Amino acid sequence: MEAKTLKTCGICEEEKQHGIHLYTMFICQECEYNIIHTEPREEKYRYYVQKLKSVNQQQLFS
Ligand SMILES: [Zn+2]
Repeated sequence: MEAKTLKTCGICEEEKQHGIHLYTMFICQECEYNIIHTEPREEKYRYYVQKLKSVNQQQLFS
């Protein structure tokens, strides 16, 4: 069963159909792929880590 509803990706903030849920955040397939394939020395990696950290904090204080 395929849901047609689009969810807003917490990383790129675009509406996508396919992706995963991490805590309360939806991450689209593209961003999931990018996160996995980004080296920690790349500047993008810090951006992803910041985004993911904010999800963790929401979870802690809720
Ligand atoms: Zn995305």
